[in-house]
Amino acid sequence: MDIMDEHKVVIQQLKNVPNFLSIDILRLDLLHSIISGNKWYKLRPNIEAAKKAKIFTILTFGGAFSNHLIATAAAATQFGLQSVGVVRGLDAETTLNPTLEACKHYGMKLHFVSREDYRKKESHEFLMNLQNLYGKAFIIPEGGANENGRLGAEDIGKLIPHSYSHVCVSVGSGTSAVGILRQLSLEQQLLGFAPMKRGKYLESVISQHLLPKFLPNFQLFDQWHFGGFGHWKPELLDFMNRFYLFETIPLDMVYTAKMMFGVFDLIQQNYFPKKAKILCVHTGGLQGNTSIRSFLCY
Ligand SMILES: *Cc1c(COP(=O)(O)O)cnc(C)c1O
Repeated sequence: MDIMDEHKVVIQQLKNVPNFLSIDILRLDLLHSIISGNKWYKLRPNIEAAKKAKIFTILTFGGAFSNHLIATAAAATQFGLQSVGVVRGLDAETTLNPTLEACKHYGMKLHFVSREDYRKKESHEFLMNLQNLYGKAFIIPEGGANENGRLGAEDIGKLIPHSYSHVCVSVGSGTSAVGILRQLSLEQQLLGFAPMKRGKYLESVISQHLLPKFLPNFQLFDQWHFGGFGHWKPELLDFMNRFYLFETIPLDMVYTAKMMFGVFDLIQQNYFPKKAKILCVHTGGLQGNTSIRSFLCY
């Protein structure tokens, strides 16, 4: 497996941007093929905390296509830890999809629960039962959404120069958005793009973890969901293929393609001032393209 090397992360300028605007892209996707993008930053302080507490099993949660589960499985192996993944939905167990197959390959023990039980995942009793089964574990919430994760995501923010006026990022749990915003100057705007229907609720989730001074600098969009989380339309895949042909940068269908599509739509709507200097964060997640590979030119 590749070694984690944060020097692989670069900022690149897009070649083909309309309206004479300038867009750069922070390539967190180049970090690692599996522990890709923002997931590594959120995991790192959690892995360090587990090791410090001498707890050698990481237990975490996710859906059957979760980038967080696969990143945790690979990172745990790399850092000499065991891992347990609690997977939402009993149906996922019948035939393992490529993501879960890979989790298993990295040594993750998979524990399938019904959607109903999955909702209890923060309850003390549920977590105690799991530890009775798998031994004492360091528990990381779904999406790496704890204070360790937010602190780790601040390291993404530290990679962003203060010369950018607008920073764009895709939002799942909002953990990365919080970490990044905490490191921006008050002259910089963060635009979050939610890839699911009715993602607006994430605004309050994110605000909870921010000092009030940052709130006016944050805006969340949820209209570019293409039918919902993990859903797509031919228009989105066309966009991904065209983006790749112009820029040679692969996007993932679940998160970064929807963000980039939204950014280009905002440009068409003249949302950005002429002098805007835009940075888009490529949060990785390319393993999520497995199911649509035959439609993509990359
Ligand atoms: C998980 C993920 C996100 C969402 O990150 P949050 O910190 O949960 O908001 C965005 N992009 C990609 C590619 C991801 O895998």
